[in-house]
Amino acid sequence: MAETMLAWEIGRPGPITSHPLHAVRRPVPTPVAGELLVRVAASAVCRTDLHLAEGDLPPRRPRVVPGHEVVGEVVAVGPEIANWRVGDRAGIAWLRDTCGRCRYCRRGSENLCPRSRYTGWDADGGYAEYTVAPAAYAYHLPDGYPDEELAPLLCAGIIGFRALRLADLPAGGRLGIYGFGASAHLTAQVAIAQGATVHVLTRAEPARRLALQLGAASAGAAFDPPPEPLDAAILFAPVGELVPTALAALDRGGTLAVAGIHLSDIPALTYQEHLFQERTLRSVTANTRADGQELLAHAAAHRLRVAVTRYPLDAADRALADLAADRLNGAAVLTP
Ligand SMILES: [Zn+2]
Ligand SMILES: [Zn+2]
Repeated sequence: MAETMLAWEIGRPGPITSHPLHAVRRPVPTPVAGELLVRVAASAVCRTDLHLAEGDLPPRRPRVVPGHEVVGEVVAVGPEIANWRVGDRAGIAWLRDTCGRCRYCRRGSENLCPRSRYTGWDADGGYAEYTVAPAAYAYHLPDGYPDEELAPLLCAGIIGFRALRLADLPAGGRLGIYGFGASAHLTAQVAIAQGATVHVLTRAEPARRLALQLGAASAGAAFDPPPEPLDAAILFAPVGELVPTALAALDRGGTLAVAGIHLSDIPALTYQEHLFQERTLRSVTANTRADGQELLAHAAAHRLRVAVTRYPLDAADRALADLAADRLNGAAVLTP
């Protein structure tokens, strides 16, 4: 096996135009007890990577390798691991480790663990030819999908799936989706498969076309009212100005879930216009492993259409720049 590999690291965080990502050669990492070494086959690009590169999220590890939607082949298994073998296809996601002992972990909310660690933030991730990950947080993946279509499921898919659950959509209900990138286009398909009527509200015209192709009932501009009141809405765009717009679009008793890890400031809300009649505003924080397993089980049972734009690994900086400039439809995926 190779001793060194290509990897991208975040130097000094800053605007993507200042090129915060650097391509470097590094030693191939060695798995320790409880870890898998994975040869990366596909690594999807998440908006969180952009937030890290640009400094919206504070760095937690100097020169970290981003990337937390990773599909690859297990090439080495550290000691003390029973359920993984060399040659398995593994998925590595954002949630990397939790304490297992705190009040949140014990009640099934490991996503809220104060000692949780994250791939591509606290530890090096998948913008590289190889990566290591704790086996207990890696996913076995469904058949019937190529690697590059599975990668976006591992954050975009999982977080959207949790946001949909927290949005509390009644059976057969009307769901509004604000912003239509990688996560939203997967979540829309899950909701439609569950019987929802989906209205997409987003600024980019190609994204509106994709939404209609995937079965959305309507696709309009982000700040326009949907054609009917919404029982639930999910805000995927990192745009706080959309919060009052989306709350005003809710029917009585409706819930707005904010899916992103970072949101620009929310303007002042008016109680009568935005919250009264028992409307709920809530955030979504990462995910549990159970969320991941449920989304992957859904993907095994319902073939999701995953819109992918491929980039070679050595063009990771271009993929992030395209995401920053809204030039992407669906998910960007790096392949070595
Ligand atoms: Zn992500
Ligand atoms: Zn914990």
